[in-house]
Amino acid sequence: MKGWEQNIRRVIPYTPGEQPDCPNMIKLNTNENPYPPGPGVVRALETLDTDRLRLYPDPAASCLVRALARRYGLGEDQVFVGVGSDDVLAMCFLTFFNSNRPILFPDISYSFYPVWAELFGVPYETPALDENFCIRKEDYFRENGGIIFPNPNAPTSLLLESGDVEEIVARNPDVIVIVDEAYIDFAEGPSALELLEKFDNLLVVQTFSKSRSMCGMRIGYAAGSPELIRCLNDVKYSFNSYTMSLPALELGVASVEDEAYFQGTIEKIKATRKRSLRALRELGFFCPEPSANFIFASHPDCPAKELFEELKKEQIYVRYFPKPRIDNYLRITIGTDAQMDALLEALGRLLSQRKQ
Ligand code: PMP
Repeated sequence: MKGWEQNIRRVIPYTPGEQPDCPNMIKLNTNENPYPPGPGVVRALETLDTDRLRLYPDPAASCLVRALARRYGLGEDQVFVGVGSDDVLAMCFLTFFNSNRPILFPDISYSFYPVWAELFGVPYETPALDENFCIRKEDYFRENGGIIFPNPNAPTSLLLESGDVEEIVARNPDVIVIVDEAYIDFAEGPSALELLEKFDNLLVVQTFSKSRSMCGMRIGYAAGSPELIRCLNDVKYSFNSYTMSLPALELGVASVEDEAYFQGTIEKIKATRKRSLRALRELGFFCPEPSANFIFASHPDCPAKELFEELKKEQIYVRYFPKPRIDNYLRITIGTDAQMDALLEALGRLLSQRKQ
């Protein structure tokens, strides 16, 4: 082994879902929104003054921070923005999880959490979800170095009731509790943003990728007490001052200002989720009650891996995780009604062919 090889930081990276480039595919594998961003965002892109790209963008991302603060009734000193919520979450791990005690997150949740923990050398423990894939709040009532969980959870799509979220935050006043709300806009329950007035150890992370149809623009944000936001900014400025590009800032503001379009898209996705859930259950799938823009589904008669592979042959992409406890489930993003009809037709056909 060469001397320098010993000094390399070696990590096992997170594996994102496939981004195949096939014109006729039905892409239901990465929880993207099937609808385009709103007309306000299109206008902002069309009128973007490219001459301004000569200059560095505002390092404080003030226009976007201001728009988000106004939209969610927060102070401008309570909002932090980043390059998608992955960037925001990575900064959070680096900033707030700096103890010898293990941080806690569920055994089945966003598979990026253990990757960041390994990368930053943060010890962690993963309490098991119960047999119904629900978070057991009691598991988080013990000494720890911080807590993070998605709500709704991924890949299960299950929502933890807001009273339970509050209890977890209240029982852990000496550590930071991060609620990753990438999918909260698709849930019926309230956001933990409501709890920020009561708790200075709570940080709520959201994204423009899902409900705002802007995965490709990479915008995420965190909301919390001014003290937490200051600490996050100090770490950000120690890493990369200019995280947000000028187009991201301008298109992000346009999206936040287009409230009616945003609400309309969410309603369409919820309606499609409702009918898709009913149809999947009629085909015999078991699906926990979904609160995100995806459904977690398992069929008693056919291994998920087989369905995943068969669907792929038909250019229908869903997500499959070959991991303990969930390796017989598909995670199916809610697409348009037409896309879901194609998926349901294919699943119905594959299941009946299998019976013969
Ligand atoms: N949190 C959860 C739970 C997610 O599923 C995702 C999407 N992969 C993210 C955060 C990150 O999303 P983005 O970086 O696009 O905001």
